[in-house]
Amino acid sequence: MINRKVAILGGGFTGLTAAFKLLKKGYQVTIFEKENDIGGLAKGFKLFDWEWALEKSYHHWFTNDSTILHLAKEIDHKVHIIRPRTDVYINGKLYPFDSVFSLLFFRSLSFIERLRVGFFSLYLKLISNPSIFERKTALTWIKQFMGHKATKLIWDPLFSAKFGSYKNRISLVWFWARIKKRTFSLAYPEGGFKAFADHLNQRIKKLGGEVKLNSQVTGLKSLKSGILIITSGKSFKFDEAIVTLPSPVFSKIAQGLPKNYIKRINSVKHLHAQVLVLILKKQFMKKTYWLNITDKKFPFLVLVEHTNFINKKFYSDKHILYVGNYLHPDHPNLSLNAGSLLKKFDPYLKKINPDYRQNILSYKLFIDPYAQPVFTTDYPKKIPIFQTPLKGIYISNLDMVYPWDRGTNYAVELGEKIVDVMEQP
Ligand SMILES: Cc1cc2nc3c(=O)[nH]c(=O)nc-3n(C[C@H](O)[C@H](O)[C@H](O)COP(=O)(O)OP(=O)(O)OC[C@H]3O[C@@H](n4cnc5c(N)ncnc54)[C@H](O)[C@@H]3O)c2cc1C
Repeated sequence: MINRKVAILGGGFTGLTAAFKLLKKGYQVTIFEKENDIGGLAKGFKLFDWEWALEKSYHHWFTNDSTILHLAKEIDHKVHIIRPRTDVYINGKLYPFDSVFSLLFFRSLSFIERLRVGFFSLYLKLISNPSIFERKTALTWIKQFMGHKATKLIWDPLFSAKFGSYKNRISLVWFWARIKKRTFSLAYPEGGFKAFADHLNQRIKKLGGEVKLNSQVTGLKSLKSGILIITSGKSFKFDEAIVTLPSPVFSKIAQGLPKNYIKRINSVKHLHAQVLVLILKKQFMKKTYWLNITDKKFPFLVLVEHTNFINKKFYSDKHILYVGNYLHPDHPNLSLNAGSLLKKFDPYLKKINPDYRQNILSYKLFIDPYAQPVFTTDYPKKIPIFQTPLKGIYISNLDMVYPWDRGTNYAVELGEKIVDVMEQP
């Protein structure tokens, strides 16, 4: 055993992975998590008659998410590989949207326009180093290469819905990463992401790690020797601390951070995720798992029918539909309760399934702040580095996943990397 005590702030996948790696090396580890369960943004819940847990927001892995798939193998957690269907909603109709081949049948664009979209999507897929795309804005490039009509019909509405007023500042690198990473088949851990996090937690506990739930850290200080952590009025001393919390939370709780450092890490803009989960008696869409909405009048970005991906038998034969949105922190929808939000969404949901309302058994609303960093073209200048100005305090959070879009695969990568950084002399 190494006689060093490490505190980890945050029990999401970054914190859990860092804890697991440190414990395997012989460190003494304590995780502080403010919620009543681990999992962070990928946290799940389970109704009393369900066999599997469900994520509070739609989650899957790509089959090339090799770091987390490797971790699943290491802890011997079964993974299911499935090829679900992705569609796009344009002018009141659903079109397949999951392959270059499906584009060929997309009659809202001329044959040449379809070829341009297909060719330049393929081009992005084949590029390995995105540095040539730095400082280019995605929508300008898309308009230039994929054409005006495709931009107006598909990409502009999707960027608008995802990034709102930031849409014209989003880096082409972000778009490249989305295209590059996508795989047609997807992966999903047996029992859901909660079961996977719980499994990892079991390993952590077996190795002697401690997880303190309902333990919101309100103060963090680097001492002459060691680190002080304050939670619920109690203080704890450690040798080092790894912070996996959003940067604005870190800058609020840490004492002694230089002003210019706070300014830099807080210059990253974030969107909130707002997800309404409908539990239904009957299927909402016939086959579609993922439906991108391109109609700007719709008050949501995406519909994800989880049970068109994972068998409904695991949820006592109920059907599960996510209605997802990313919103600016001052968006008025964030103050609505689940019922009011459903009322607002209802006319639009009816356009896709006129009879869905009578099939609703229950619904739940989840809001996650700091869920999506906004990858503007100047993003590389803003990314925090692992070593903070405070001695013995390290940071590893989802703002550092760039150029990739955040995901649990990268959380696992960050959790592993931060341990290497911490061990550097
Ligand atoms: C809508 C949506 C869809 C997504 N879809 C996918 C997907 O399909 N596939 C995928 O792999 N990923 C997906 N992700 C991303 C994925 O969930 C995240 O990238 C990942 O979970 C981040 O893990 P993390 O540990 O870095 O951060 P977090 O999960 O944010 O963990 C940070 C933890 O810190 C805790 N915390 C905060 N403040 C304090 C405090 N003061 N004291 C103590 N604890 C604190 C939080 O409660 C949280 O548990 C999605 C995310 C969203 C929002």
